[in-house]
Amino acid sequence: MATVPEFFGSLVFNDVTMRTKLPKDTYKKLKKTIEEGKHLDLSIANEVAHAMKEWAIENGATHFTHWFQPLTGITAEKHDSFITPRDDGTVIMSFSGKELVQGEPDASSFPSGGLRATFEARGYTAWDPSSYAFIKDGTLCIPTAFCSYGGEALDKKTPLLRSMEAINRQAKRILKLFGNDSIKTVKTTVGPEQEYFLVDRELYNKRRDLIFTGRTLFGAKPPKGQELEDHYFGSIKPRVAAYMADLDNELWKLGVLSKTKHNEVAPAQHELAPIFTTTNIAVDHNQLTMEIMKKVAARHGLVCLLHEKPFAGVNGSGKHNNWSLSTDEGVNLLEPGETPHENAQFLLFLTAVIKAVHEHQDLMRISVASAGNDHRLGANEAPPAVVSMFLGDELTGIIDSIMHDTAYDQAERVPMKIGVHILPRFPKDNTDRNRTSPFAFTGNKFEFRMLGSSASVASPNIILNTIVAETLEQFADTLEQVPAEEFNTALHDLIKENLIAHQNIIFNGNGYDDEWIKEATEKRGLLNLVSTPDCLPYFVSEENIKLFTAQKVLTKPEILSRYDIMLDNYCKVINIEALTMIDMTKKDILPALTAYSKTLADTIAEKKAVLPDLACGYEEKTLRKLSCLAAEIFEKTEALERSLITVKDCGDLQAQAFFCKDTIFSCMQELRAVVDEAETVTAKAYWPFPNYAELLFSV
Ligand code: ADP
Ligand code: MG
Repeated sequence: MATVPEFFGSLVFNDVTMRTKLPKDTYKKLKKTIEEGKHLDLSIANEVAHAMKEWAIENGATHFTHWFQPLTGITAEKHDSFITPRDDGTVIMSFSGKELVQGEPDASSFPSGGLRATFEARGYTAWDPSSYAFIKDGTLCIPTAFCSYGGEALDKKTPLLRSMEAINRQAKRILKLFGNDSIKTVKTTVGPEQEYFLVDRELYNKRRDLIFTGRTLFGAKPPKGQELEDHYFGSIKPRVAAYMADLDNELWKLGVLSKTKHNEVAPAQHELAPIFTTTNIAVDHNQLTMEIMKKVAARHGLVCLLHEKPFAGVNGSGKHNNWSLSTDEGVNLLEPGETPHENAQFLLFLTAVIKAVHEHQDLMRISVASAGNDHRLGANEAPPAVVSMFLGDELTGIIDSIMHDTAYDQAERVPMKIGVHILPRFPKDNTDRNRTSPFAFTGNKFEFRMLGSSASVASPNIILNTIVAETLEQFADTLEQVPAEEFNTALHDLIKENLIAHQNIIFNGNGYDDEWIKEATEKRGLLNLVSTPDCLPYFVSEENIKLFTAQKVLTKPEILSRYDIMLDNYCKVINIEALTMIDMTKKDILPALTAYSKTLADTIAEKKAVLPDLACGYEEKTLRKLSCLAAEIFEKTEALERSLITVKDCGDLQAQAFFCKDTIFSCMQELRAVVDEAETVTAKAYWPFPNYAELLFSV
């Protein structure tokens, strides 16, 4: 059997493969394109395409596809085979540079939020050469961006690449101020930790809520949940271990740097973390990871649930987006340095992030907004919906010293002076064990913890890159005006001023505490945007449109279309969930209650027929209770149906989203409460679906 280093990346047209398969000159030109984002001319593209095709065929591929990330949040692909007919009735396998570089999927059915009229339905896809092509299920997949003919982005990759370019532009200006002239590129890096649930496939197939919506819409609490905390980091059961091993192998073949795996807090919940890499590749890899997770599960008789809240009453799943900035020389710009000079640069970048997050809390919240994630944020498990930053005691001490000109190190008795003093080394282990913070500095990177488990990590990174680019631009604008001899003082003042102005975003305490939400909103003026409809309107504010257009990340039509798509998606999700509940109630739950009631009634009648004075306490009480509950369930189902009909009359998409949240969702919760109660009094043999205990503890 091949060892991991032998098969790692075996299905990827990566650097080594390129070097061996391409003529030297072609390789060099391609490499330049990749590293510097240069244009690739067609003759080179033809050579690359040929080599790619030969390699793909050697590895069993017959088709190719432009693999892209439309605004649905998942990936899309349309497969074309390599075959080209010849006059003699045979075929050859061909693949041209043009086919590699650009594609035209018939894309009329992808959400465009009105950006593309259906009569000009075609969008086009364009190769992102910085993300390697790979083979999946016998198809050569080419990572691509997806745009309309007018050039408007219809996907998540295009704005992500633009945002990386924006932060690259501004970070290089800052580095230049510190004398770093040789840096060619600054790229953001991301390591997304992915949580997921595994459930038995046979049980899953018996629940239409899981099949249609990815989460259980009904389900009474089992006798045991996660209260003993005996699952977290617990030993991994054989069936799960076999799944994880298989998953690792598949991911490694695709060049995904899968590194860490463990059990999570909830029963049946697990986590996978890769080693971080360049942001656009990390985003592609996370999409691949989610897809492969589901596929491998099927081979093990399992289903992988990526929904943010598959089960009520136990933790939901999120994603931790570890984020930093790195130069082409491999220097992490969020790593505190060894010299006063390096430290000053670090503090400037740190301050830029603090300012950016404080000024753009709304966008941070929006970047993780979805109907699914609303179940988590603010519940007692995930970070609250209020965005704040954790810096840890050490770094907070340093910042306090800068803000107030007080001594940081009591022994030294002098205030921290930027550009003059060295930061004390803070031991990494101390930097973060606060798991309740939405955005934590963890020694040499930030960890954004509000992400939902099922969403693409593109959006949060588009936002992070863009808002930090804006702040770096403002800092560069100021500092570039300063004469060299005044640089240190100006730098010190700039950092100090901004820390003072934005310190309200820093919070090192317990984010789950109700007191904190009060303090955050009342004393600190931070936003508490509890739900998706609450936060989305901020997306189209004048300031945000200005930000995105100034940083050249999104145009106004692109923002407006995304806003519509997000609202529309929110309404659709709630609508599907409501319809599924109605369907399950009418077709299964009420009939089950009727059947069980009949058994009880028959039993009572039979008993009384034999012995008229026989006590039938259990049967009679249960029968009464079930009849009441059934009537209530029926009423609540009808109320839910009525609310679904009214939604269309309540105005524009935004009004509809609020109606979904305030009215439809409340009706759903009321219905669920009664059904769950009915489940607890109904004999198991009569309940039409596998229960929570089975779902959570059977694997
Ligand atoms: P924890 O569970 O304590 O948060 P993990 O080690 O599981 O820590 O995950 C940390 C993640 O952060 C990993 O994916 C790791 O590769 C990533 N990471 C480390 N350094 C950087 C960096 N400079 N930029 C982005 N991500 C990073
Ligand atoms: Mg983490």
